[in-house]
Parts: sequence; C-alpha cells; structure tokens
Amino acid sequence: MSSNYKRFVEILPEKADNWRNYCICTACRDTNGRSDALLKKFPFKTERVKNHLKKCQHFKNKHPELFVELLELETEGGESNELGERVVSSKRLRRESTSSAYSSLSWGSMCSFILFIVSNI
Ligand SMILES: [Zn+2]
Repeated sequence: MSSNYKRFVEILPEKADNWRNYCICTACRDTNGRSDALLKKFPFKTERVKNHLKKCQHFKNKHPELFVELLELETEGGESNELGERVVSSKRLRRESTSSAYSSLSWGSMCSFILFIVSNI
C-alpha cells in the first residue's frame, strides 16, 4: 500500500525508526518551500501519509481529483468514525496559519464535503 503514496511524498534519508524513513509532502514542499516542509516531516507510513494528505490544503489544491479519491478510499475502509476527530484537531492546528481567512474558508468547505461523504455511507 505504501507505494501508492510514494508519489506524493519525498522520502528523506533521515530515519524515523529502524526500518522507516521520514518523508515530506511534495505539495507542501512546492508551496511553502523545502525548509518549511521539513519542519512538518513525518514517518513514511501509509497511515501517516494518508492522514497528512487528507488535511493538506496544498495537496487538495494540487490534486483535487486525487484528494477526492483518497477520501473515498478512506470511507470505504470504514474509518469514518475517526475522520471527524481528525478534522477537528487539524483545524485547531491550522488556526496558527497566517492565511487564516483563506484556510478557514476552505476548511469549511472541506468539512461539509467530508460530512457529505460520511452521511452517504
Ligand atoms: Zn502537505
């Protein structure tokens, strides 16, 4: 499964643990710059990559159709219970963003999109 997400991240030489490397989101890197993306590195693990991409506005803007696909995969996987919680916690983090007006707007539409999917299961 991990290989599906490989094209969305850049795998770093730095090790997260004995058998996993860190990676950064390429959409974040291309938008915010590499040094900023490096601050938000995460272990290259399917769950972690998926979690990041789901709440990544840059990924959403860059690959809207893949973003939808990702959410559809997620709802098929039966993880919708956790979805609400994750959105709330990522929203809290986003509040520190400088472009708060823009991100709260798109977060609103993303939330309603997720609610739409969840309510259609
Ligand atoms: Zn990202």
